[in-house]
Amino acid sequence: MELQLEIEPIESWGVNPERPLIISGPCSAETEQQMLTTAHALKESGVQIFRAGIWKPRTRPNTFEGVGSVGLKWLQKVKKETGMLTSTEVANVKHVYEALKMGVDILWIGARTSANPFAVQEIADALQGVDIPVLVKNPINPDLELWIGAIERIAGAGITKLGAIHRGFSTSEKSKYRNLPQWQVAIELRSRLKNLPIICDPSHIAGKSEMVFEVSQKALDLGQDGLIIESHPNPKVALSDGRQQLTPAEVADLLKKLIVRPETTNDEAFAKSLDELRSQIDLLDDEILEIIEKRMNVVKEIGKHKKAKNIRILQTTRWEHIIESAQENGSSKGLSDEFIEKLFKAVHQESINIQTEILNS
Ligand code: PEP
Ligand code: MN
Repeated sequence: MELQLEIEPIESWGVNPERPLIISGPCSAETEQQMLTTAHALKESGVQIFRAGIWKPRTRPNTFEGVGSVGLKWLQKVKKETGMLTSTEVANVKHVYEALKMGVDILWIGARTSANPFAVQEIADALQGVDIPVLVKNPINPDLELWIGAIERIAGAGITKLGAIHRGFSTSEKSKYRNLPQWQVAIELRSRLKNLPIICDPSHIAGKSEMVFEVSQKALDLGQDGLIIESHPNPKVALSDGRQQLTPAEVADLLKKLIVRPETTNDEAFAKSLDELRSQIDLLDDEILEIIEKRMNVVKEIGKHKKAKNIRILQTTRWEHIIESAQENGSSKGLSDEFIEKLFKAVHQESINIQTEILNS
């Protein structure tokens, strides 16, 4: 269901209407020199907002936890010398007060913080009555309600310049990404909060500099409004996230290579063939649902048999057999193991639910 929050368009943040909006800068502020070198170079490529982490939430203690407040002066200098807007992450009330005092233009809430409603509420309370854009990163776990909840808390403080950042989600699955992108979750967010700008963070999704381009392009192809890309003059010696940062020259290159495709076209022949193909998809989707309904009817029969004989619902070897043969079959049809596993897990879970109901009826 669509939610009604007052959300202003991106231009209200003080940027020009060119899309995608590009935010870039180092994972962490390290030195004044590093900040200024990076900022001047990025400005040349049309970056409108400079990012730098001042306080860093690190997974393990005794690693670099950010330069702290001194870095805010460097952000001020970046703004003064380049005219770019500045942004940083805030994770508690002290960060909010210091960032506001030093004139940071845009704040973001990090993935670990947005997963914690107490922390988000404290930040929201500190922002009461302040007019500043606030971007909310997705929480590390793929829980759309938690993400929306964090956005609502910030909106509750009267903030109307809101945005979301999709930075991928933690996963225990083996994956080529550092943080698994869940495009579907971002799409669902867009349909729940229609006007909410969504920025993609390809750096934290990819985790590797060489994958940042493909994630960026995908985000644009899915209609996300902007990108936040980490950049460091010499990523090899960066104090945090060195593996995923691009040099400013690489950012310039990436921006040149990105293809910005329009959402739609006036070409009537194209619109007609797209409509035809979409109606084929709709018919096929109906057929999928009918087949699943038939499958579930068989599941119900099995459930009744099991109840009559009083045997348990799950036979582990049976499930292993289903998934193995589906993956074998699927791969001959060009379907990935990952997709087959997700699909069959969902179908199997529904089957278990149905049989549990029968067993307890
Ligand atoms: C960051 O932007 O450097 C950062 C710490 O991001 P996240 O909160 O997405 O991990
Ligand atoms: Mn980082």
